Amino acid sequence: DGHVRFEEVAFGYEPERIILKGVTLDVPAGTSMAVVGPSGAGKSTLARLLYRFYDPTAGRITIDGQDIAKVQQSSLRSAIGIVPQDTVLFNDTIGYNIGYGREGAGQPEIEGAARGAAIDTFIAALPQGYESMVGERGLKLSGGEKQRVAIARTLLKDPPILILDEATSALDSRTEEAIQSTLNAAARGRTTIIIAHRLSTIVGADQIVVLDAGRVAERGTHAELLAKG
Ligand code: ADP
Ligand code: ADP
Repeated sequence: DGHVRFEEVAFGYEPERIILKGVTLDVPAGTSMAVVGPSGAGKSTLARLLYRFYDPTAGRITIDGQDIAKVQQSSLRSAIGIVPQDTVLFNDTIGYNIGYGREGAGQPEIEGAARGAAIDTFIAALPQGYESMVGERGLKLSGGEKQRVAIARTLLKDPPILILDEATSALDSRTEEAIQSTLNAAARGRTTIIIAHRLSTIVGADQIVVLDAGRVAERGTHAELLAKG
């Protein structure tokens, strides 16, 4: 499962300013969709609606045929992992921040074998020397390091639906390459919505949607869009 549909979705943060209009999207379970388009087109807004930070003003969003407005928020959010564009971390240890994604704020430390794989992934992504600092307080993390913590946290949650909103934007190109292959592996067999602008990030997507001024301007596979010019 994890079949995501947007049906004629409209939304505005303020009633008098419409951001999304008549957006219809279909992401079959286990497939990936890349969303591209100019800055301000409404790409992040799509992600926020799916996670129910906001609700559409018209239309509906379904997962496996169920209107997400009628699903308990806790079960919706356990089904979806989001790496948001701007990561805000708790002023606590890396371990606390990674654990938060799954257990909520009450469960500060990493434990259990189930977490091993994601933590290995995460540790592999850290700069040398950080491996032993997962439980340390007062670390000053750069934007890219915070982004890696956010990615690790989301992968640890192991959600059937993954939203990557410019998830590697703060990484240098060498680190990005490494993390990108981890993310590609995580996306396999999982419903994945990728918001990105770099071509290398989106060529592998099962479908590409071009959003412009809150409307779907184009859609198709990478090859189809290339053929259209
Ligand atoms: P994109 O991800 O394509 O760059 P966004 O979805 O972030 O676009 O934003 C779409 C539009 O919504 C922009 O005009 C942006 O200024 C506006 N917007 C985004 N977030 C908010 C908000 N919290 N309140 C009001 N307007 C917002
Ligand atoms: P969890 O998945 O651990 O339950 P949350 O649902 O609180 O975590 O948040 C998921 C991610 O979305 C976090 O990285 C958080 O910083 C970010 N986030 C929280 N609220 C908003 C919001 N209103 N708009 C955009 N991103 C948000």
